[in-house]
Amino acid sequence: MSIKKIKILLSVILLAVLCAALYISSGRRAGEYSETQFLFDTECTVSAGGKNAEAAVNAAFERAAELDALFDYYSDSSIVSEINNASADVEIGIDADTASVLSMANQISEASGGAFDITIAPVKDLWNFSGEPSVPSSAAIQSALKSVNYNNFTLDSENNFLVKHNTFTRIDLGGIAKGYAADEAAKTLKESGVKYALIDFGGNVVTLGNNPKNKNGIWKIGIQKPFAPTGEYSEIIEVTESAVVTSGIYERNFTENGILYHHILDPKSGYPVENGLSSVTVVHKSSAVADGLATACFVLGEEHGRELAEKFGAEVYFKYRNEQTEETK
Ligand code: ADP
Ligand code: MG
Repeated sequence: MSIKKIKILLSVILLAVLCAALYISSGRRAGEYSETQFLFDTECTVSAGGKNAEAAVNAAFERAAELDALFDYYSDSSIVSEINNASADVEIGIDADTASVLSMANQISEASGGAFDITIAPVKDLWNFSGEPSVPSSAAIQSALKSVNYNNFTLDSENNFLVKHNTFTRIDLGGIAKGYAADEAAKTLKESGVKYALIDFGGNVVTLGNNPKNKNGIWKIGIQKPFAPTGEYSEIIEVTESAVVTSGIYERNFTENGILYHHILDPKSGYPVENGLSSVTVVHKSSAVADGLATACFVLGEEHGRELAEKFGAEVYFKYRNEQTEETK
């Protein structure tokens, strides 16, 4: 072999070693594909490994985008808007996804004694967390609360329709939709034949298959430390195929006169829940159930929250506010 050929060969080997090193340092494995999209008003990431991982991740996002459009509170063409604009006593035809979400929401509302209630929408509007939030007048809250009650609509999930009993009753699926979408994304990935996957839809995490980074296949999911930089954890939980969902007050909030107001509302009072909690994390096989339960357990507080989680066979973690780590804005 000529010196020139040896030099070329050495360069090729060096390049290959460099590429491998880069691959390892980026944490990505051969055959793994990862993508982040902005859906459900938050960052959604799907990583999957195995055959056709890229196509599978794309299909999972297509499914999630379809559900985002369907459940979008602020879009005129969503089913949620159709329901919200409908009058009382009219049969509203719904698709199978909406029927499933509403039926799960109702189960959690019943089991939590109304701590979880998707008819919170008129109160949520007053607080305006997605716009320029401010504390509403108590008269406005009392008035909005009149149409809040999950019994203000009847769902027929077998024949896919619902009827409102109060024209002013409106629903908001913000406390459960991301969880349902994460479940559906996981289903799509599974059907596409991926070996393993990690889904994170704004704190709604679903794991699929064995974690390739761990010999025993276990996934380690961090519970975000409230009010700390993203990625700083207060606890790491270990799971096999599961959903791990966190509802917290540290992302959507505002401070007025030194008081922190956040987006988890007590359907009884119409005010943000003040019970010392900063986040609740629920582990369950269904991400939709875990999402609804996390919100419900937050409203109920630790004692009754644990009882509720037990009814669903879910694991639950409560984290409390620590003034030292809170940002004062
Ligand atoms: P995140 O959206 O941060 O994941 P949650 O799952 O707790 O947090 O959902 C909070 C959202 O759910 C709020 O933005 C609002 O749209 C809705 N919501 C607030 N309080 C309740 C409640 N008591 N029951 C049902 N939905 C609620
Ligand atoms: Mg929730």
